[in-house]
Amino acid sequence: MKIYATLLLVFLIPVRLIAQQRPTTRPVVHLRTVIDLTHTLNANTPTYEETKEPTYRVNTVATLGKDHYFAREICLPEHFGTHLDAPAHFAKGQWTVDQIPPERLMTRLIVVDETAKVENNSDYQLSAADITNWEKLHGPIPAKAVVVLRTGWETRWNSAKDYRNPDAKGVMHFPGFGMDAAKLLVEGRKVYGLGIDTLSIDYGPSPDFPVHQYSLAHGLYHLENVANLPSVPANGALVIVAPMKLEGGSGAPVRILAIVQ
Ligand SMILES: [Zn+2]
Repeated sequence: MKIYATLLLVFLIPVRLIAQQRPTTRPVVHLRTVIDLTHTLNANTPTYEETKEPTYRVNTVATLGKDHYFAREICLPEHFGTHLDAPAHFAKGQWTVDQIPPERLMTRLIVVDETAKVENNSDYQLSAADITNWEKLHGPIPAKAVVVLRTGWETRWNSAKDYRNPDAKGVMHFPGFGMDAAKLLVEGRKVYGLGIDTLSIDYGPSPDFPVHQYSLAHGLYHLENVANLPSVPANGALVIVAPMKLEGGSGAPVRILAIVQ
């Protein structure tokens, strides 16, 4: 009898604790809209390096008519279309794409819109003052967020020439992050990732990619060629960053989904 009473107590206590922990008014999360921040991959996708042969190749290996199922094989660079740069892309001993902890891939999305400044200056570099001005309007940038710079460059996506925007010497011109902005976000705000709607986090004319070298060495990841930024708010969205899990990869094509609450 004593044993039964003890057993009953053992079972009852956890049940009571669970019952007590259950909130009476459970917060309801409304997933109002999911915005796809990813460009569709195809042979016209602009690339950082200009190549004679297309770097994206697709080959149909089975058809419904002949094989009763449809399948293709594809060949593409790791840094193609909307993609993620792993820390190992520029920093020895840092995470490859498969090693990035998954909790860093679902977080808050911050969008800094500098479209107006870029209209007058294709080589615009985001400054630390731009970040602090953004915070005056929208509140502090939370730690662990992904901060994406919206430049308006995606309107050029369908023309690789306009998107790369080379001058007569072949030097590309498009906007990017300045070093002071990167330092503030990495060391001051402790963010997990930086993103942009151009080919590179560093601005087009950069010969040595200082922001890549600095922020990837600090364990951040980069998102490049991000799409559909006009459809997400400056603050308040969540983001799911889902790169292909390539073993030892320097980066990978990524599906980015913003959840607007
Ligand atoms: Zn890249």
